[in-house]
Amino acid sequence: MIWDAHNVGRVGVWFDCETNRPVRWVRWYDDVSGEYEAFRMEPKRAVKSGIPLHSILYRNKSRLRFVPDPVAVPRGTVRECDEPGCHAEAIWCVADCEDLTPILRPDGVPFVRRHVMGQRYYCDKHWRPPTVTTVRGVTNEVTEVVQP
Ligand SMILES: [Zn+2]
Repeated sequence: MIWDAHNVGRVGVWFDCETNRPVRWVRWYDDVSGEYEAFRMEPKRAVKSGIPLHSILYRNKSRLRFVPDPVAVPRGTVRECDEPGCHAEAIWCVADCEDLTPILRPDGVPFVRRHVMGQRYYCDKHWRPPTVTTVRGVTNEVTEVVQP
């Protein structure tokens, strides 16, 4: 089967199964032959820079796997805002996570782990921050200030 933006249906990243590295901007992937076609750079940026799309296309053959982005709104889906009574189109998605016990790397360095319990979708007017529930069961809204 040939996979492309029309039938993948989700936003996510293709990974090369051998190298376990992401393959960016995949245009299509044939899971029978393992052939795929991708862009060497972001197609929108190439168009803005006046670079013809056919010049940045390449073909390769490898086994790929698709990993969907857990918080992206599925393609082609118009979701309504989760605020009761609001029927505006949702353009934001936030995740509610819970902390899991840290795991130790073989060298003893602990890794923080979180599990996505659910997502909420909002319009611009009703956006609310994502939450994290600690191992003690305390739920906090997560807000981070980003400075240039
Ligand atoms: Zn709303």
